[in-house]
Amino acid sequence: MTDISADAQAPAAGTAGRNPAAPGGGRTVGAAVTPAVIARLARGVTADGSAGTADTIAPLTGEKLAELPLSGPVDVERAFRQARAAQPAWAALPVRRRAAVLLRFHDLLLKRQDEVLDLIQAETGKARLHAFEEVMAVASAARHYGRKAASYLRDRRRGGAVPGLTSAVEARRPKGVVGQISPWNYPFELSVGDALPAFVAGNAVVNKPDTQTALTALWARELFVEAGLPAEIWQIVLGDGPVVGPEVVDRADYVAFTGSTRTGREVAQKAAARLVGASLELGGKNAMLVLADADLDRAAEGAVRACFSSAGQLCISIERLYVHRSVAEDFLARFAARTAALRLGGGLAYGADMGSLVSPRQLETVGRHVEEAVKAGATVLAGGRARPDLGPLFYEPTILDGVTPQMAVCAEETFGPVVSIYRFDTDDEAVAAANATPYGLNSSVWTRDTRRGRAVAARLRTGTVNVNEAYAAAYGSVASPMGGMGESGLGRRHGSEGILRYTEAQTVAVQRILPIGPSMGLDDEAFARLFTTGLKAMKAFRLK
Ligand code: NAD
Repeated sequence: MTDISADAQAPAAGTAGRNPAAPGGGRTVGAAVTPAVIARLARGVTADGSAGTADTIAPLTGEKLAELPLSGPVDVERAFRQARAAQPAWAALPVRRRAAVLLRFHDLLLKRQDEVLDLIQAETGKARLHAFEEVMAVASAARHYGRKAASYLRDRRRGGAVPGLTSAVEARRPKGVVGQISPWNYPFELSVGDALPAFVAGNAVVNKPDTQTALTALWARELFVEAGLPAEIWQIVLGDGPVVGPEVVDRADYVAFTGSTRTGREVAQKAAARLVGASLELGGKNAMLVLADADLDRAAEGAVRACFSSAGQLCISIERLYVHRSVAEDFLARFAARTAALRLGGGLAYGADMGSLVSPRQLETVGRHVEEAVKAGATVLAGGRARPDLGPLFYEPTILDGVTPQMAVCAEETFGPVVSIYRFDTDDEAVAAANATPYGLNSSVWTRDTRRGRAVAARLRTGTVNVNEAYAAAYGSVASPMGGMGESGLGRRHGSEGILRYTEAQTVAVQRILPIGPSMGLDDEAFARLFTTGLKAMKAFRLK
């Protein structure tokens, strides 16, 4: 089923050995994701059946996984109508009642995580450990917003226009119905993880996940409803992105989009034309810097996670690795050995270090980037070939050296298990090279001196920087914002920004005793004089 050339399957020059297969074990996709499970989850799609169906595949085997109903414009309209009708009653509940639903969801998730780990693996082909990252991320966000939403959303007293006479309160009102569009690569985190703060802020959500990974989103919805979310508050519509996506954007009061920079631009333009806000979590070409004083064993171990988690199909994974020339050979020996030892596999059980790619399209891009680079003179330090012996979409974790700017892999997002190595002589040079990209999502700095690490971080133009970690330290710090600079996006998830984006600020000011205008016999000029004195006094008394 995969359309890869013989060249892409052949070992590229310079590779020694092949990655071992992970020990077998675990249930098969067919045993875990049964027709009964699929039929039950498919009932959660808002679709009347007239728009047809689409098949999804299990990337681990290439076999058909599910046939799912698609939503037409009429279905999207109905999803919004139902969500809009239910939203006011949901928003009228005290925040603590909504937050309690998130906390119950947290507990149910941890208890029943195996169900969703199976689905994530079945739909994406990733290793179970990488599927578990999604459980960690969602549980952390559910706990955080479950505990902190009331404080993020509470009314805040602000200084009034005239001290003593005006009182002002900043309130947060829900946007209404949020349109959320999510990709396939982290289907649990990027559907429910981003919806959690929208719900707790009093919104309904119409979500369009990628069809390939819709079962995971549908499972999340089912669990949320079990935790107490009214079913109408979360609608799921499915369909071709360029067809159904715009239908969602056209009706939403706010758009939360995660996906490629190319699609993000289209979504942003549509949202702007309607004057609705949008957060855009987009692509990256993330850099890791190994400074001269780094602990090379830790850095090599971290680089493996940074580059090959979810087979590199992770927006914050590392595709450019800058290493100080003085330690480059020592570091690369460690990194290449660890990479070549990664066990590839696709059982629905822990034990594999890396799984499969998700689609023939991903395999094609990865194979093309590597082949082109090798043909143009790059050297393969590890990996560099597809592994059809393990499954139709497996590709070895790959390290390329000698990559030059003419090669696509140098600047384009591969979104696969491929990293390019570059050497540097000074921190300034490394920072300049890392910043020489239109993207700005994540970066990683390795040094034994954390002060130096923080100083380098401050000069990197990325929304998150991890010192002595790949990506999980910043991403998992859910009280802090996460998102992209430059072409990596607009807006942030997590922290106060991650929830306040789903609200409108409303200032309610109450005026007492005297109006803000001429009164009590003052003419305009006398009022202006009096107010001028008042303004000077406010500055003298340091009123803000
Ligand atoms: P994509 O842009 O092709 O698709 C993302 C979603 O948008 C899918 O649900 C798709 O159906 C939908 N879509 C497609 N065309 C649309 C249109 N015209 N209007 C509205 N919606 C449309 O991206 P992808 O290939 O599925 O995902 C991979 C990309 O996502 C990578 O670039 C990756 O870096 C990025 N990503 C970013 C983050 C982040 O947090 N910054 C997280 C995960 C993935």
